[in-house]
Amino acid sequence: MPCPHCDDTRWRQVRDDGVLRVERCECWRQDAARTLLRAARIPPRYERCDLDTFVSYENEKLLTALRRARRFIEAFPVVEKGLLLIGPPGIGKTHVAVAVLRQVVSEKRAHGLYYDTRSLLNTIRSTYDPVTRTSEVDVLRPVVEAELLVLDDLGAERSTDWVDETMNFIVNTRYNDRRPTIFTSNYEDIPDPEAFDSLLARVGFRMHSRLREMCEFLEYDGPDYRDFEYPPSSENLAHAWEAKKARPRPKLPAKTSSRARARLKTGNAELAWPGGRAGR
Ligand SMILES: [Zn+2]
Repeated sequence: MPCPHCDDTRWRQVRDDGVLRVERCECWRQDAARTLLRAARIPPRYERCDLDTFVSYENEKLLTALRRARRFIEAFPVVEKGLLLIGPPGIGKTHVAVAVLRQVVSEKRAHGLYYDTRSLLNTIRSTYDPVTRTSEVDVLRPVVEAELLVLDDLGAERSTDWVDETMNFIVNTRYNDRRPTIFTSNYEDIPDPEAFDSLLARVGFRMHSRLREMCEFLEYDGPDYRDFEYPPSSENLAHAWEAKKARPRPKLPAKTSSRARARLKTGNAELAWPGGRAGR
């Protein structure tokens, strides 16, 4: 069905103080937003995520995270810092991150991009051509140049020197270009540098201190949304949250691995991507 306002010309006439002029039709704006959303690579299971449909409940840190997410959307593109959503699996971190991305893309018409961290690294690795440096152009450039990038599940990637260098290259380039990034991570930000499986141990010292500079840390806990039929009710979530808080926390193994410890000692390094000779 053709657009009733412009008959699919994408322009419509408006009378302004008696003067007839043309302006972009609303349908053109919607088309532009749809094209940008498609380019953002949001996985189908998250493509309806928005903050208004996110079911929240009485949980102070979660509500703070949601407030900060809304503030980020309102302020974009004038944002000093990105966001880092931290907490156990299933508490809606990806939902919140994607909701922000979707809203920024469709309302502010920004070029946004979503990547699961591990699949991004796999893509870079598998498409890299050492002669043409293809993945630098085809995969890395949109990642470092996106006006807003979501990197989901930071720290899940298995650490190697190549992974560390590649991640540091992406994150440092975006930081230097003042482009905000929203991360999610299942790894707690534990101040003890020897704590096992902390964010610091997973991403290394360099990346961790960069994250501190470029992101607001929003750490929260809660019940697993996947334990409920969709959509869960606030009451049931609040109830499950009270029950979870009453349970003792499982003890983490005390010390980091030797590789993680070694990485914590790594100092500063230059901004360089080692290329795609990767995977070991
Ligand atoms: Zn139209």
